Amino acid sequence: MILSHLAYAPIGLAAGGLVQPLGILFMEELGNYAGTLRAFSHVAPPDTQISHEHDIPGIGRIPCHRHGICEPITHAMSVGFRNFPDEMDQLVVRAIDTQKLALMLRLHTAASAYRHSITLDVQRRATAAAKRLDQAIGPAFDQALGHSD
Ligand SMILES: [Zn+2]
Repeated sequence: MILSHLAYAPIGLAAGGLVQPLGILFMEELGNYAGTLRAFSHVAPPDTQISHEHDIPGIGRIPCHRHGICEPITHAMSVGFRNFPDEMDQLVVRAIDTQKLALMLRLHTAASAYRHSITLDVQRRATAAAKRLDQAIGPAFDQALGHSD
């Protein structure tokens, strides 16, 4: 949970004259977690609208990718699509190549947040990433979850 907040902190690893955003490493590792990476208050009951999850056989319970950003790690990914588009494109490719479903679903949620961005370059790249992820996840997956769109 705490590491997922670090994923959107402006921290980089310098090596060989290049700076790699540290958040990418956290996103790749934590982003495939099967479960909701979010702290719920012990006082108030959890908001079931925000914590909508699906129980996916062989994977576990993960937040619905059609329900918007509800975890810090997914927020970090959305910040990444805006600030580190090259690294995020590479992360999308690795997620698809390795078939990390929970990571693909979170990346899809994050990329989809820019569908109507007024920053056209961010909109174009994030929308292209969401489309690649959509194709990789597949419509059959959404139908199996009971999503009609
Ligand atoms: Zn759902």
